[in-house]
Amino acid sequence: MDILISGASIAGPALAYWLRRHGFNPTVVERAPSLRAGGYAVDFRGEAHLSVLRDMGVLAAIEREQTHMGAMMYVNSAGKKLASMPADLFSGDVEILRGDLARILYEATGGTEYLFDDSITSMTEDASGVEVTFERAAPRRFDLVVGADGLHSNVRALAFGQESRFVRELGLYTAIFTTANHLGLDHSGKVYSTPGKLVGVYSARGNTEAKAIFHFGSPPLLYDRRDVEQQKKILAKTFAGVGWETPRLLDAMGDAPDFYFDSISQVHMDSWSRGRVVLLGDAAYCASPLSGMGTGLAVVGAYVLAGELAAAGGDHRTGFARYEAEMRDYAGRCQKQGDGVAKLMVPESRFMAWVMNQNYKLIPYVPWKGLMARSVRKVANSISLKSY
Ligand SMILES: Cc1cc2nc3c(=O)[nH]c(=O)nc-3n(C[C@H](O)[C@H](O)[C@H](O)COP(=O)(O)OP(=O)(O)OC[C@H]3O[C@@H](n4cnc5c(N)ncnc54)[C@H](O)[C@@H]3O)c2cc1C
Repeated sequence: MDILISGASIAGPALAYWLRRHGFNPTVVERAPSLRAGGYAVDFRGEAHLSVLRDMGVLAAIEREQTHMGAMMYVNSAGKKLASMPADLFSGDVEILRGDLARILYEATGGTEYLFDDSITSMTEDASGVEVTFERAAPRRFDLVVGADGLHSNVRALAFGQESRFVRELGLYTAIFTTANHLGLDHSGKVYSTPGKLVGVYSARGNTEAKAIFHFGSPPLLYDRRDVEQQKKILAKTFAGVGWETPRLLDAMGDAPDFYFDSISQVHMDSWSRGRVVLLGDAAYCASPLSGMGTGLAVVGAYVLAGELAAAGGDHRTGFARYEAEMRDYAGRCQKQGDGVAKLMVPESRFMAWVMNQNYKLIPYVPWKGLMARSVRKVANSISLKSY
């Protein structure tokens, strides 16, 4: 069966890998002209995530390139340490830069056809397949189409309707870009927070560079998602007058080789498939970056979708229904994990900011510190994966 996957980030290549292993023939279309580098550090936690990566033969490569991050320090405007967050709370079992992970997964799909710099423009389904037209490539016919094209999924818009019906903003925006490690951070990061705003920087790639990260609370913003300059202006305006290293980081934004800007959102849908079209990863059940589960969910979802399709002998009705039955509660639990963290992360009032700072100071000492890390891992592990 010929299966078209839209999106070559995490979910797309992971699915291509498993489809090939089950004897299907995947093609991946990606809007970017090449594999997209950049992005933040993502982590995997618990045996459910790790076992899929191990089975794919990519865990060792991921471990080789892991960040080895240490503690994250909360600082005041003078850079003085207020509190230190231990690494085990936020780095999971293995942490890696998103771009490095995407490359490792892509390399694991050797032999798969990739159409870069292209995008689906229409899908017309009949009894035996889907006629697909593209911005560049000639029209082609596929048995099935999978949308693994993220929070703002094109396939979802074409097959299910307007994004606003499914995307729920959590009231925060995030921006991240690569910059020089001018603070000389050693496998660590610093975070400065004022009411409604948080700015941080952490070292990456063996301290040779750093990632600047910004979070801010805001009602939904109107902007062009393809206009990076406009997004940079929004960020500069929002963080104007914020102290600590903020002016220096905003200055460096102009030269950044990468820039990611988006709302922190979740995707909620009643059904993830329609006819011969199915959604995977953020496109179907984005849990938000604050859940710490996005990449794990994408990889586990790819394993289950390909496995259920194979188990159903390629019958998409059965395969898609079983994929959803296996994944829905799990995705819901991961989404719950992301709920609420938004408010804690960037407190809106001075009082809440103070409360959170007190809380951060105590975290290394409180007995329930281990409990917090354990409860996140428990959610990550709350699926029993079949052997397909
Ligand atoms: C460059 C980049 C940087 C990121 N950085 C961060 C970050 O710093 N913080 C954060 O919280 N999350 C970030 N993310 C999102 C994060 O990677 C996902 O939440 C998570 O990994 C789930 O992966 P996914 O494959 O489902 O979706 P995504 O990682 O979002 O991947 C979707 C893919 O689909 C492609 N695509 C989009 N539209 C089309 C189209 N019309 N046709 C073909 N392809 C299309 C995109 O270019 C992308 O490669 C980033 C994503 C990308 C692509």
